[in-house]
Amino acid sequence: RPGLMAGKRGLIMGLANDKSIAWGIAKALAAEGAELAFSYQGDALKKRVDPLAAQLGSDTVLPCDVSNEASIDTLFADLGAKWDGLDFVVHAIGFSDKDQLRGRYAETTRDNFLMTMDISVYSFTAVARRAAAMMKDGGSMLTLTYYGAERVMPHYNVMGVAKAALEASVRYLAEDFGKDNIRVNAISAGPIKTLAASGIGDFRYIMKWNELNSPLRRNVTQEDVGNSALYLLSRLGAGVTGETHHVDAGYHVVGMKAVDAPDI
Ligand code: NAD
Repeated sequence: RPGLMAGKRGLIMGLANDKSIAWGIAKALAAEGAELAFSYQGDALKKRVDPLAAQLGSDTVLPCDVSNEASIDTLFADLGAKWDGLDFVVHAIGFSDKDQLRGRYAETTRDNFLMTMDISVYSFTAVARRAAAMMKDGGSMLTLTYYGAERVMPHYNVMGVAKAALEASVRYLAEDFGKDNIRVNAISAGPIKTLAASGIGDFRYIMKWNELNSPLRRNVTQEDVGNSALYLLSRLGAGVTGETHHVDAGYHVVGMKAVDAPDI
């Protein structure tokens, strides 16, 4: 059968290495025939992203620092010069000073609060506006969030506040672009060992806790997130927008540690 994403073109933002959630998503999309472009932050990452993109048959690898409006404009100008349309975009980007991803939220500085909100929240809105302008036949947009937006999780701190704002922006963007048949969703992923995650205090403990206490009694993988992303970005998700979809082995439904879960 022809792939679910045959004839579809999309931009993947936030690939840093083969541990990135963006990589799991890109692989799932490419396996179904999607044509992909990638953006990366800073020259240091280009040498990692180029070969990964090549593995999925893409040679469209463009720089973009989302904290810079001109850089986002250049990305979309370059993409527009190459492609006459766009079907989907994946925003797998977040950043905060790791010294503030431990200890008390109350100590978050103004500078780091604003930077975290800028890179982890506003950038999705800035990207969505430009991507929507290229989506002539409807489209689908996806960002990544975490349960720390909804409940207090140890060390997540300012990033939890940012993810709450990101999830709210998904709902507003869904309304703005819904009339153009453009859908906007988030995946709330369970903890996965990536570069960004390694900045969070006690991350190994958080992973172990999720493994032992989630209904599926395991952590999720890049592939789990990739396959759910495929659903939301393809026609399979045609009726879904404004949603935060949990791909977390069910952890978010649990109210209390299970009796059979070992102590850690
Ligand atoms: P990652 O480190 O592989 O990816 C983070 C990406 O953000 C990197 O590619 C980095 O270059 C990019 N980035 C940071 N600042 C940027 C900037 N100014 N301009 C452009 N790009 C910038 O880690 P990941 O875990 O794959 O993170 C992807 C997304 O998934 C993030 O939004 C993260 O919060 C979210 N998430 C991660 C987990 C987890 O446990 N790993 C769980 C839920 C949600």
